[in-house]
Amino acid sequence: MRYVSTRGASPVLDFADTLLAGLADDGGLYVPESWPVLGDGGRGDYVETAVEVMSPFVGQSVDGGAFAAMVADAYAGFDHPEVAPIVELSDGIHLMQLFHGPTLAFKDIALQLVSRLFEYELSRRGERVTIVGATSGDTGSAAIEACRDRETVDIVILHPAGRVSEVQRRQMTTVASDNVHNVAIDGTFDDCQDLVKAMFNDVPFREEVRLSAVNSINWGRVMAQVVYYVVAAERLGGRQSPIAFSVPTGNFGNVFAGHVARLSGLEVPQLVVGSNSNDVLTRFFVDGSMDIAEVVPTTSPSMDIQVSSNLERLLFEISGRDGAAVGVQLDDFRSSGRFRLEPGQRVGLADGWSGARFHDDEVLTCIGDEADRSGIILDPHTAVGVLAARACRRDPSIPMVALATAHPAKFPDAVEAATGKRPALPERLADLHERSERLTALPDDLAIVQDFVRSCRRGA
Ligand SMILES: *Cc1c(COP(=O)(O)O)cnc(C)c1O
Repeated sequence: MRYVSTRGASPVLDFADTLLAGLADDGGLYVPESWPVLGDGGRGDYVETAVEVMSPFVGQSVDGGAFAAMVADAYAGFDHPEVAPIVELSDGIHLMQLFHGPTLAFKDIALQLVSRLFEYELSRRGERVTIVGATSGDTGSAAIEACRDRETVDIVILHPAGRVSEVQRRQMTTVASDNVHNVAIDGTFDDCQDLVKAMFNDVPFREEVRLSAVNSINWGRVMAQVVYYVVAAERLGGRQSPIAFSVPTGNFGNVFAGHVARLSGLEVPQLVVGSNSNDVLTRFFVDGSMDIAEVVPTTSPSMDIQVSSNLERLLFEISGRDGAAVGVQLDDFRSSGRFRLEPGQRVGLADGWSGARFHDDEVLTCIGDEADRSGIILDPHTAVGVLAARACRRDPSIPMVALATAHPAKFPDAVEAATGKRPALPERLADLHERSERLTALPDDLAIVQDFVRSCRRGA
């Protein structure tokens, strides 16, 4: 399996090089040269299906036995034997819980595996990297938890100061490992993401510190997320039966993985994109336009995003894989803040996508109502997806799966406001508020942040 950039101007790479590269050096994102075809099998066993679904993407690049062992090890630490169990909501919508990993958010599913793949490949090559990432909350803690104490990796995570929840910040800043560094940037998540992109676009710097990324732009993350779409189908009627999903969306990595499952042959007639008040994406799916506005803080901070990086992968697909055209269109979007789909691109979006946006008052009402009716406590991100599932569902004869992306205890203030009860942290995080924090506050200034990153490298 080989990977090409969505901007069409970077070398074609194998899986291991794609994994370590993160962003392509032409500014694009890597995607497979062609989509593999999903087989018929699958019994709903998470690890077994994971190895089968991901193997074609990994190709000859990683030894098969070593890969299977890494997959098993990545999910052994999850709190639930099914890894991602499915429960039923009050109106028969299925809720797939993706939050049983170490940091209580779905990002653990990808990052627990990706960090093992990094360590494996870097040790084999005798190399080390500096991972730099931007987080609106959950990526950071999941990346830090996955990379802590790994010999081959130093990790620096930027978060927007004051814009992540207390639990989210503490999950990052209380990790006492030499290779872990947290930076609070005076700015928004998009500012953090722009700093990371600028560091990658600075080629001498990138090579000096051997920069790498585990942001949701990393192909390894998308690949690992394809698995639970297939597992859900297996558990709810088999791979041959149609199934719909609703996904609370920020950077578009999660729902794009659902589209990859569809491109690989899973019958997914509908993917629903749920947004909070930051609804740039909803408008994209409703009328093909995007107009960037200010980021509005909401109760679902991991979705407080205006520019969804992974949308570039979908644009590439619906543009006949014309990387040069995608590059021009996105550069124009960056500079003007406005985007309009070309008529030819609209054809690729005509079917199979829906989008809906919900404000915080609707989200809190949904959490309260669901607690009353079924006793199931939703976190605010998950509630956006559940609301979108209900609003957009087209065919009641097809199972609709809403993805639960965070444990309610990650967002205790919103959940308490909605239900009157504060959700308890699970055992392994019970003393989180007593642990001591470590972080560095920096301005939104590329040169200063780059100097800090240089200072974090061990063995440099
Ligand atoms: C990251 C995150 C999202 C958004 O996922 P994307 O892949 O960025 O679309 C939604 N919910 C939670 C809890 C998250 O952590």
